[in-house]
Amino acid sequence: SPRVRFAPSPTGYLHVGGARTALFNWLFARRFGGTFILRIEDTDFERSSEAMVEGILEGMRWIGLDWDEGPFFQSRRLDLYTQTAERLIAGGHAYYCFCTKEELEQRRAEATAAGRPPMYDRRCRKIARETAAQRRSAGEPCAVRFAVPEGGSTGFDDAVFGRVEFSNAEIEDFVLLRSDGIPTYHLSVVADDLDMELTHIIRGADHISNTPKQVLQYAALGAEMPVFAHVPLILGPDKTRLSKRHGATSVIAYKDMGIVPEAFRNFLALLGWSPGTAHKDREIFSSDELKQLFSLDGISKSNAVFDNDKLAWFNTEYIRAYSSDKLLPLVEEEWRRAEFHPARPHDEILSLIDLLKPRARNLKDFGGPFRAYFGDDFEYDPAAVTKFLKDAAVRALLVELAERYYTAAEFTEASTEQVLRGFAEEKGVKAGALINGARVALTGQAVAPSLFAVMTALGRERVVRRLRDTGG
Ligand code: GLU
Repeated sequence: SPRVRFAPSPTGYLHVGGARTALFNWLFARRFGGTFILRIEDTDFERSSEAMVEGILEGMRWIGLDWDEGPFFQSRRLDLYTQTAERLIAGGHAYYCFCTKEELEQRRAEATAAGRPPMYDRRCRKIARETAAQRRSAGEPCAVRFAVPEGGSTGFDDAVFGRVEFSNAEIEDFVLLRSDGIPTYHLSVVADDLDMELTHIIRGADHISNTPKQVLQYAALGAEMPVFAHVPLILGPDKTRLSKRHGATSVIAYKDMGIVPEAFRNFLALLGWSPGTAHKDREIFSSDELKQLFSLDGISKSNAVFDNDKLAWFNTEYIRAYSSDKLLPLVEEEWRRAEFHPARPHDEILSLIDLLKPRARNLKDFGGPFRAYFGDDFEYDPAAVTKFLKDAAVRALLVELAERYYTAAEFTEASTEQVLRGFAEEKGVKAGALINGARVALTGQAVAPSLFAVMTALGRERVVRRLRDTGG
């Protein structure tokens, strides 16, 4: 059964592209009863941090991606990389390089000036093996480089892009191990992918150009190659690569914007993947459906476009479809963030959530414009007040209406409507003016569910109090 991995570098938060890569690997593992491994590629000690690792794990947990093995940390596996480099040296596929940083820089500058590609000139490849070993034991600092074959080409069959081939003449004798003993990405990724017995490497298309360097190592180690599946890039609406210019790129930022995790996961799954013609016009897929449908065949070769409006649409669809029980913990988290303390009993909160969820754009609405339903700690939208409550005559009528509600025999949707309409007729004013004014007085907002449903949901006591308060 397949073994796949997500291998983020903790030099930043979990970004949208990384989350999509993780999701595809996870779905692939779940679909085919495989194993999903989490590996933290933290060999860039200066740029990696514990906080970033935590951020990545938090992002994965948020979208519900659980891993079966790991997290493994490359920084704790350095011996494996040294051993792999030694195996490559012993097989004649790698060599010690004594060129200093200054020498390399100077030669690169010269090559560029002369119009030659600034590739390593392979000078140390010519040093006899015994000589190199002696210099090294004498303490001379050295790196290890891979000896790229001089002719021919290196290629692989990508599950998404098909046959990909690179001329060996264009591949530099790349560094495997730096002089400080730290492996480069090229070495650690192959050593780990082999050691962890991965069968499929699903990752961003930006790694295609790294792949021949990995293929060469597999061949040199006599190892079987995994299947490579490179996933197209994610672009912003202007068709340039998704970046901070387009808005939030960190996954957790979407959580903070009030997106529900399943909506985000559904949206991500369709960024560069589709379930095929049998489901052509469908967009809403539950997690279980995605797990049953995912396959590498559905991954598109063309770049995906990140569409914020589409994400907002998924979010409203999911919020609407959630039961209030399921929505409640997410709403409560939003309330904690907004430092809002609801002042209603549990069952009333649930029915208020049911009343409001068709109108929610995101979870933030519950900690913002929807507060008036759940407690008295809310603000009036100034634009709504100006529009519907500025008229002193309307306010005076609402205060009077409050007394009708106070003394009314019953307080139901039908009776509250009857009272308001009868009162408007009696006073010779349009019911609409009172409805609009009352809506703002009761909810702080110009838009709300049906006013009379709102009244019964708020209860007589609150309705009377808030209508009286319009008198100032
Ligand atoms: N650590 C690499 C990155 O964050 C991924 C390596 C790989 O998937 O091969 O881009």
